Amino acid sequence: MSDVVVIGAGVAGLACAVRLAQGGADPLVLEARPRVGGRIRTFRPADGGPALELGAQIVHGDRNPAHTVLGPQPAAPRPEAGYVVAGRVTRPMAVLARGGHPPWLLEARLAGCTAQAGREPSVGAWLAACGATPAEVATAREWVRQTWAADPDRLSATEVAAAVRHDPGGRGEFTVPGGLDLLPARLAEGLRVRTSSPVRRIEAAEGGTGVRLLTEDGELTADRVVVAVPPAVVARGLLSIDGLGPDKSDAARTLAPGDGFCAVVTLDRNAPETASVFDADGVGGFTSCRRGRPEVLVVAKDAAAACVREAAVSPAHLGALLAVALPWTTGAELIGVETADWSADPCSAGAFCAPGPGAARAAREWARPLDGRMYFAGEATATGRALPWLQGAYAEGRRAAEEILEAGKQ
Ligand SMILES: Cc1cc2nc3c(=O)[nH]c(=O)nc-3n(C[C@H](O)[C@H](O)[C@H](O)COP(=O)(O)OP(=O)(O)OC[C@H]3O[C@@H](n4cnc5c(N)ncnc54)[C@H](O)[C@@H]3O)c2cc1C
Repeated sequence: MSDVVVIGAGVAGLACAVRLAQGGADPLVLEARPRVGGRIRTFRPADGGPALELGAQIVHGDRNPAHTVLGPQPAAPRPEAGYVVAGRVTRPMAVLARGGHPPWLLEARLAGCTAQAGREPSVGAWLAACGATPAEVATAREWVRQTWAADPDRLSATEVAAAVRHDPGGRGEFTVPGGLDLLPARLAEGLRVRTSSPVRRIEAAEGGTGVRLLTEDGELTADRVVVAVPPAVVARGLLSIDGLGPDKSDAARTLAPGDGFCAVVTLDRNAPETASVFDADGVGGFTSCRRGRPEVLVVAKDAAAACVREAAVSPAHLGALLAVALPWTTGAELIGVETADWSADPCSAGAFCAPGPGAARAAREWARPLDGRMYFAGEATATGRALPWLQGAYAEGRRAAEEILEAGKQ
């Protein structure tokens, strides 16, 4: 019998396994995909050009655990930024500040929002009442969609604010120039990780203790199991858990991640400049390119993800979408397209969980250990308490490991 099995080799599962190993356990990590990292997926151009990210992009905060694991990482570059409104691109992005309410300022103000007299406004309602013009509100709504992968009307303003305030990640934005997948690779070093091993079912083992796991290669047993897969994977029935109960099943359904779609498009020409463009029309998410490189990166969430997904099936449509944000791409031939459809991927079922209605309560419920044998971790368990990003996933993995180590002492 293996003492602890961790299901899922994303940041949460790996951080959990690292902490368990430090505590003297010998965890086995089972991962469905042929690679570790989960929603971190790095694209490396064949000619050795700079890495691009098809999943998580940014290391948020100077106290983010990525710095502890990989060493201090550099601040994210600030390229010439623009925005698209009514199908036309405008530079620089700072033009948006002219009315006094650019989206980044409204986002910062939102972080101060607290519940008043029991009122729980949505982010959409908060924006509508914040004193900005209708055009500024429309732009901010799209900005929020791209930050939280959710419609502002389905986001709790107080829970978004609480998550931002309580996040221990610190200030600033950073990148991992060698590729963000170095983070899970480093975490996995020295651990027993079995990739291409999807777990299909978790059952209580006979005899009252331990669990039995059904994988595609057969069965194995363990004293305890950590479920570090997105709850949506369980809600969709791709991993079934015996005795989950109605409260946890409801929680898994409530913690549905938002839509996310990313693409690296390689063109027949190099970018004349480094640029990043935000599509306030809600069609293209963020589009970016680097001077002297032929790749264009599109990162789209919520409704924009559906637009980019639809465009990606046709080179002509995708080319037209890129040309709006980056006019230099007009007429370029698409040499290659690499996509990451996070919602269609059964191992992720979406981008990440935003603090929508009932999400904070569902996150607490999902995180609650079951029967002393099953423990739960992942970005979703941070929802409403901390940011459901890399630092949230990492902290929640460590939290589940501490619960198991503590239980082991009793
Ligand atoms: C487009 C996009 C942009 C993002 N941008 C950022 C960003 O800029 N900054 C940031 O901090 N965060 C960002 N995030 C969020 C970040 O990627 C996640 O919060 C984090 O990676 C989640 O880690 P996790 O371990 O909880 O889940 P995951 O990374 O999803 O790990 C879960 C693992 O479980 C595996 N699994 C699933 N089912 C099974 C099964 N049945 N058996 C075995 N294994 C299974 C999966 O394959 C996966 O490896 C972004 C996410 C997306 C999609």
